[in-house]
Amino acid sequence: MRASYKQKCIVCRKNHALVTWKNRVPVCVECKMREINKPIKDKKFKKMFDIDNALYEKSGFLRNIKSSYLRFGELSEKQIEMFKKVVEEVKKKKDKTSDNEI
Ligand SMILES: [Zn+2]
Repeated sequence: MRASYKQKCIVCRKNHALVTWKNRVPVCVECKMREINKPIKDKKFKKMFDIDNALYEKSGFLRNIKSSYLRFGELSEKQIEMFKKVVEEVKKKKDKTSDNEI
């Protein structure tokens, strides 16, 4: 099922977060941003993740990649490739306001 709906954030229990088929745990953007806002030591990844915060706010995909890097300390070549690609896509969509996250 691909339907998405909003549920109360499990972290702050205040805001609502979008629950989708690929993202079943509702964590609002605010909490997720706080979670991924951690210093990165590795030079290569530090540079890669050093993008405008607004891009992370726009894209659940970018938040998830950074979140998994913080959790596992590494990313696959494929994830790195996708991250860079999506950053460009989100930049292009910057002025569009919508709920459609990439
Ligand atoms: Zn929250």
